Amino acid sequence: MTQADSDFIKVEKLHKVFGNLHVLKSIDLSIRKGETVCLIGSSGSGKSTLLRCLNFMEYPTAGRISVKGKTVGKETGTMLDAPTFRYDEKALSEHRQHIGMVFQQFNLFPHMSVLENVMEGPRTVLGKRRDEVEAEALKQLARVGLSEKADQYPSRLSGGQQQRVAIARALAMQPDVMLFDEVTSSLDPELVGEVLNVMKDLSAEGMTMIVVTHELGFAYHVADRVLFLHGGQILEQGPPEKILKNPAEPRIQQFLSGFS
Ligand code: ADP
Ligand code: MG
Repeated sequence: MTQADSDFIKVEKLHKVFGNLHVLKSIDLSIRKGETVCLIGSSGSGKSTLLRCLNFMEYPTAGRISVKGKTVGKETGTMLDAPTFRYDEKALSEHRQHIGMVFQQFNLFPHMSVLENVMEGPRTVLGKRRDEVEAEALKQLARVGLSEKADQYPSRLSGGQQQRVAIARALAMQPDVMLFDEVTSSLDPELVGEVLNVMKDLSAEGMTMIVVTHELGFAYHVADRVLFLHGGQILEQGPPEKILKNPAEPRIQQFLSGFS
């Protein structure tokens, strides 16, 4: 394994401050190529902010983010204990192309068919023609088990199916990494499993994934590593068997006891 593979995504001293709210406090994190990392923690602990900083939907206040050994942005100074950066939009849009993100809300385009939704990124962001991207889009729909829904409109699909389309849409951009932010939280309980199964398959296929979830069963069986975020810091991390069954931190024991 090369250095770029073991530090496929590297976060160093990441800080995010909103006004006088210090949300992320010097996060250090390395993700290996092909690793599935589950991020757990109470509401407000900074999980979404961390994911959003990784694809620059939020700009880090300070701290370095590198992908495959290459730092995003130009270093400009120091703040808190960390380097600060200037980001140019062209480089960021290039960076974002390689990061797939799926949210709690599916945000599909209602006036487009499922297939058109999946082709939209490659067409508008990459400027490709329909005939260039259709086969690939159909392949991604097959991957999430929805080939037969290609010509339907999203409103005709269940929430679980819509979320699987949202995953196919992200995959159509050929991302290096997939970020999932509580993607099953708004689904009826009986629809959660089909979405988690798609994610489990992706993980088994070697996709690099960072998954914010309250589905501890998924974290236990699928994650290579579980991180517990508390107050904008990584309080403890390790194999799922350790963090979810025998954490050292009382706060994690307390968090887990809320689930049984
Ligand atoms: P989590 O996803 O773990 O529930 P978030 O990352 O969404 O936590 O939020 C962490 C903290 O940052 C919360 O106190 C939240 O209110 C605050 N926060 C998140 N986004 C913003 C924003 N855009 N402006 C101000 N405060 C924010
Ligand atoms: Mg959140």
